[in-house]
Amino acid sequence: MKVNPVWKTNYQSQLSLLPPSYDDFISANHPVRLVNSILDRVDISSIERTYKGGGTSSYHPRVLIKILIYGYLRNLYSSRKIEQALAENIHFMWLSGGAQPDHNTIANFRSGRLKGKFKQIFNQVVLLLASEGILHIKDVYVDGTKLEANANRYTFVWGKSIKTSRARISKQLKELWAYVETVYAEEEQRPNEPDNFDAVDPDQVAKTIDSINQALSGKQVDKKIKQKLGYAKKNWPEKIAKYNYQEKQLGGRNSMSKTDPSATFMRMKDDHMQNGQLKPGYNFLASTNNQYLVNYTLGQTTADTTLLKDHVEDLVESYQQTPDTLTADAGFGSEENYTDLEAKGIEAFVKYNYFHKEQQDQKKGKVNPFAANQLYYNKDTDTYYCPMGQAMRYVGSYQKKTKTGFVQTLHRYQAQNCKGCSLRSLCHKSKYNRIIERNYNLSRLKAKAKNLLTSEKGIEKRK
Ligand code: SF4
Repeated sequence: MKVNPVWKTNYQSQLSLLPPSYDDFISANHPVRLVNSILDRVDISSIERTYKGGGTSSYHPRVLIKILIYGYLRNLYSSRKIEQALAENIHFMWLSGGAQPDHNTIANFRSGRLKGKFKQIFNQVVLLLASEGILHIKDVYVDGTKLEANANRYTFVWGKSIKTSRARISKQLKELWAYVETVYAEEEQRPNEPDNFDAVDPDQVAKTIDSINQALSGKQVDKKIKQKLGYAKKNWPEKIAKYNYQEKQLGGRNSMSKTDPSATFMRMKDDHMQNGQLKPGYNFLASTNNQYLVNYTLGQTTADTTLLKDHVEDLVESYQQTPDTLTADAGFGSEENYTDLEAKGIEAFVKYNYFHKEQQDQKKGKVNPFAANQLYYNKDTDTYYCPMGQAMRYVGSYQKKTKTGFVQTLHRYQAQNCKGCSLRSLCHKSKYNRIIERNYNLSRLKAKAKNLLTSEKGIEKRK
C-alpha cells in the first residue's frame, strides 16, 4: 500500500494577529546591524546643511548613506541594483526603514551631496574604532596596490603621442614655408616669414597657415600642397586646441583614459593567465592597523615611492595627529621619504632596496670589498682608500633633483691612477680612474632605518 507524503503546512495566506516587524528577521549579529549602529554615530551635519529647507520632503541623507555603504559591503554598486535590493532584500528594507528611494535619487545623492564627503565619513568611522581601542592611528602599516578604474581601456591618450604630433605639425609648417621660398626663389620681393612655426597655440597656427596661403595666392601651386594647406587650415588649429586641453588634463602624466581622465595607464598585476596588463587605474595607497584601513589615498603614478609623502600628509590632516611609527616595504625607502618622515618625527620602519640581500650577505659573511660603502674612509682628510690602498680624493659635489623636485647632494671621490692595477677588472669598468659617489644623507638615513628594522621591535613589525 502506498503511503502519502506528509507536507509541511504552507502559511502563505495566513494572516498574523500582530504583523511582524523587519527587525524580527534580522539576526542579532548580522553585519547590517553594525553598519546601522556605526553610521548612526557619524556626524553628517555638513551634508545636512546642503539641503535648502522647505519644499517637498527628502529622504534623510543618513538613510541614503547607510544603504549606499551597505550596498558596497554587499558588492552592489549600481543605483538600480540598490533600488531593487530595497524592494526585495529584508536587510536593505530594515536598514532603510522601508523607505524605497529610486535609482535616480540614490545616484544623484552619491554624485551630488555625497561628493567629496565620503572621506570625512570614513575618517569618523576610523576615529570611532580608534576610540574603542580596535585600531591605533599612531602605528600604521603602509602599502600600495594598483586599482583598475571603471574606464574604457581602449580610449587612451598618450603624452608622448601629443608631443610627436605637435612636432610633426611644426615640421610640416616649416616645410610648407620652405615651399613658399622655392616659389619666390626667382623674385626679389619676398613675403615676410611667419613669426614662428611652433604648434603650441591654435590661433598662432591658424595665422601661420593664413600667411602661407596669402603668400601662395595667385601663384602656380602644386596640387598636393594645395590639398595639404586645405587640410591644415581645417584641422590643425582644432587639433592643437585639443592637444592643449589633453595636456592640461594629463598634468605631467604620460597617459590617461578618455573616459576617466584622472586614471593613468598602469601595468596591473598579472591575471590568471599570467599576463601583466596595461589598464587605466590608480595607485591606491593604504595605511592599516590591526588589519583595518586607517587611511587611503589615490595616486596617479605607478611608483609607490613618490606617493608616500602626500599619503602621510593626508593622514595627518584627516586625524590632526601624526603617527609615531610607520612600517612599509622597500618600494617606499627613498631619501626623500626618509627625510620627510624624520622631519615629521615618525619612526620609519621602512626597508630600502637590497635590505634583504644585505642581510643575507651579512649572514653568509659575504662582503664586496669594492663596494663604495665598504671602502676605508678617513674623515680627517676626507679621503677614501680603494682595495689597492690608493687614496681616492674628493673631487667635487653636485646636486640633482628627483622627479618630485627633491634635491640630493652627491660627493665624488676619484682614484689617482688605475692604470695597470691587477684588481681593475674586479673593481670597475670605466676607461678612466675610478670615481665613487657618496650620498651622506642617504647613507645616514639608511643606517638609521637598518638599526630600526633589525631591532626587536623592527623584526616584530616586519612580521
Ligand atoms: S682599479 Fe683603481 S680604484 Fe680599483 S683597486 Fe685598482 S687602483 Fe684602486
